[in-house]
Formats: sequence, C-alpha cells, structure tokens
Amino acid sequence: MGKNNPFYGKVRTEKEKDAIRKVTFKTGKSKNKQGYIVLHSNSKRTATTEHRHLFEKHTGRKLNKNEVVHHKNEIKNDNRIENLMLMTKSQHTKFHNDERG
Ligand SMILES: [Zn+2]
Repeated sequence: MGKNNPFYGKVRTEKEKDAIRKVTFKTGKSKNKQGYIVLHSNSKRTATTEHRHLFEKHTGRKLNKNEVVHHKNEIKNDNRIENLMLMTKSQHTKFHNDERG
C-alpha cells in the first residue's frame, strides 16, 4: 500500500501509548482498596470482584445485593472456592463486628 496506507509513517505519540496501556490495564486484574481482587471487563464496561464472580460461576446463579461472599480464612485475595462462603449482608457485618468486639 505504501503511501496510500493511512498508517504509513505513523508514529505513536506518548499520549497514544498511554491510552493503550490504560486499556490493557482495564481488561486485567487489579486490587481494590479493601484488598479484594477486581476483574475488569472492557467489553461489558464493568468491574467485579473476583471472589464474587467465582462464586457466581460455582453456584450457577447471580448473587443479589444482599448477599456477600466471605473469605473463611480472612485472606481477601485467597479466592479458592473452598475458602468462600455465602452470607447475607447483615450476617456478614455481624460476623466481623463480633470478631472485633
Ligand atoms: Zn468477610
């Protein structure tokens, strides 16, 4: 194609490179402030915690907003299915409060 190619001689600027890096980051995994692993999906434009996603896959249904997936050993990035346990929001809050109190 040579000079008729629209990308002929085109050099990516730092700004463009940075934009590409950001997109790559979004499609991967990261950790949130609470220490949970977060999965980013560009196609769906959503971010979900990995343990919730794994638990939903395990049970074959979507969890509702009142359901919390608790880490039995308290290690928030240990997302083995045997370490995960389903609780309601109030059960979960009570569990962690009792522990501290
Ligand atoms: Zn918990």
